[in-house]
Amino acid sequence: MTLDELKTYIRDIRDFPKRGIVFKDITPLLAAGPALQEVVDRIADRYRGRVDMVLGIESRGFIIGAAVAYRLGLGLALVRKPGKLPSERYAARYELEYGSDTLEIHRDAFGDHSRVLIVDDLLATGGTASAAIELVRRLDGEVVACAFIIELAFLKGRARLAAPDVFALLSYASE
Ligand code: AMP
Repeated sequence: MTLDELKTYIRDIRDFPKRGIVFKDITPLLAAGPALQEVVDRIADRYRGRVDMVLGIESRGFIIGAAVAYRLGLGLALVRKPGKLPSERYAARYELEYGSDTLEIHRDAFGDHSRVLIVDDLLATGGTASAAIELVRRLDGEVVACAFIIELAFLKGRARLAAPDVFALLSYASE
């Protein structure tokens, strides 16, 4: 399946979750077996042999991250919203348009010097992924790349990401 074909499975929802936002809905892609397989395989193929661990960001990053990890025969680490992880954890705060938010990781999510692939569904301003990068560093992991299905390139989020490789399958130059 080509990337142009894949793009037809992303649905724009205007004014969700609030006015002025165009929400990129990936549920049509998740519902279509060949499209889901294409996304997972393209990400997995790119990083095969180059990473030791996949890290999924709550919650849509869990879906793609788990499938990529399974495909590569690797484990999955979770970066979650506050109050969800039961064991010892680290937290990283990041700024939003209005206010700030926090993400957490278990301190034993992976071993020192693990080569980590961070996965999420969408890169917007980069705040979420940059918090995930900070958490990987706190655990002495090496961020190999951040991989996304979608990049909203006009928000220039990739400039905020201190990762050697920022990869997105589908890029949008404007809303
Ligand atoms: P950011 O931290 O600004 O890069 O936002 C990325 C996170 O917010 C990802 O976990 C996305 O799932 C979600 N997100 C932000 N903007 C959108 C959007 N326009 N459509 C769908 N999800 C979005």
